[in-house]
Amino acid sequence: MKVISVNAGSSSLKFKLFQMPGETVLCEGIFERIGLEMGTSKFVVGDKKEKTELVLADHSIAVNKLLENLITKDVVKDLKEIVGVGHRVVHGGEKFFQSVVINDEVFKTIESCNDLAPLHNPANLIGIKSFTEKLPNALQVAVFDTAFHQTMEKEAYMYATPYEWYQKYGVRKYGFHGTSHRFVSERAASLLGKKPSEVNVIVAHLGNGASICAVKGGKSVETTMGLTPLAGLPMGTRSGDIDPAIVGFICEKENKDVAEVINMLNKKSGLLGVSGLSSDSRDIGNAILAGHERAKLANDLQIKAVADAIAKYAVYLGSVDAICFTAGIGENATKLRKNVGNRLSLLGIEIDLQRNDIRGKEKIISSDNSKITVMLIPTNEEVIIARDTFELI
Ligand code: ADP
Repeated sequence: MKVISVNAGSSSLKFKLFQMPGETVLCEGIFERIGLEMGTSKFVVGDKKEKTELVLADHSIAVNKLLENLITKDVVKDLKEIVGVGHRVVHGGEKFFQSVVINDEVFKTIESCNDLAPLHNPANLIGIKSFTEKLPNALQVAVFDTAFHQTMEKEAYMYATPYEWYQKYGVRKYGFHGTSHRFVSERAASLLGKKPSEVNVIVAHLGNGASICAVKGGKSVETTMGLTPLAGLPMGTRSGDIDPAIVGFICEKENKDVAEVINMLNKKSGLLGVSGLSSDSRDIGNAILAGHERAKLANDLQIKAVADAIAKYAVYLGSVDAICFTAGIGENATKLRKNVGNRLSLLGIEIDLQRNDIRGKEKIISSDNSKITVMLIPTNEEVIIARDTFELI
C-alpha cells in the first residue's frame, strides 16, 4: 500500500512516497519556485538524484509533473497504487485535535482557519485541491501542525488579553511543529523503553523556525509558539517573544504601519536581525569563529531563550525523563547543545562531550551521571503524516 506525504508551501511542494506499513521511502523530492519564471524539481529514488529546471505555472502543474515522474521513473506502475495522500496543514485552529479525512466540510473548516495562518493554509489547500483532482480514488488526509497542542490546559493557552478577543477571534496560543514534537516525544519514550503515557519529555525543535514543547504522558501541555509562529524563541529571521509595545513604538518612530513592523519581526529579526549577517546558524557559527560580536550576541540570545524555556517547562512538568534536540540546528549544532546543557546544570544536566560529538543520528548525549537524559532525535514529520493517513485508510 503506497501513501504520499505532501507539504505544499506558497511556492513549493515537498513530497515523500512511502510503502506502508513498512514505512520504506520509495521516492522523495521537492518542487520549488512554483509560479515564478523558472522553477526547479528534485527527485530522489534510491541513490539516484535528479535536479531539473522547468516552468511550474502553478501547484497543479507541479502535481502533474510529480505523478508523471513516478510512472516514468518506475516508482509506481499505476497511479491507483497510491491509496492515500497525507497533507501537512499548518493551522487547524480549535477545530481539529487529530488528523482527519478531508471531505467538503473539512475543506471549508480549514479554509475558515485561513486568517490565522494567511501565508500557509491557503497554500496547503491548493495542494489538497490539486491532489484530489489528480488522484480522485486516494483518501486525502489533513495532518495539522496545531493538533498535537490541543491538549493544553486553558491556563497554558490563554493570553491575559481582553477575553472577548478569544471569544470573537480565537486569540489564544495554538502552537506549531506539533507533528515533530509528537514524533520526537514518542521516539524518546521508546528509547527509554517506556510508553509515551509513562514519560515526561521536553522537545527542542530548533530549525529555521523553532519551538519547544513540554509533553506530559504523551500530551502537549505547553509550547513556545503562540497564535502564530512568530512567538517564543528567537529564530532564523523571527524575533520570538518581545514586549508587544515595541510594535507601536517602532510604528511611530519610523512612520510605518503595523503590517510593516510585523513583517520585520517575521523576516528581518532573529539571527539575521541581530547579527546583520545571516539567518543561517552555520554562517553565524563561522562568523563567531572570526570574532564577529553581533553574530555571537545573536547566538547567545538564542541559547539563553532555549535554556530558559527548557527550565521553565521542567518546573511546569514537575519531573522530566528526557530532553530532546531536533531539526536542523538541534540535530547539528553540537556547541549549542553543549551550551544549553551548561546553562541547565541546576537541573543536574550533564552533556557528555564525546557522545555529543554527533550530527543527525539518534543518540543519548548526556553523561551517565546526568539527572535527566538528553537525546538527539532526528525529526521525521513525513512519517507521522504517512502513518496517520495509513491508519485512517
Ligand atoms: P526549517 O525546516 O525550519 O526550514 P531546518 O530544520 O532545515 O529548518 O533547519 C535549518 C537550520 O539548521 C539552519 O539555521 C541551518 O544553518 C541549520 N543547520 C543545518 N545544518 C547545520 C550544521 N551542520 N551545523 C549547524 N547548523 C546547521
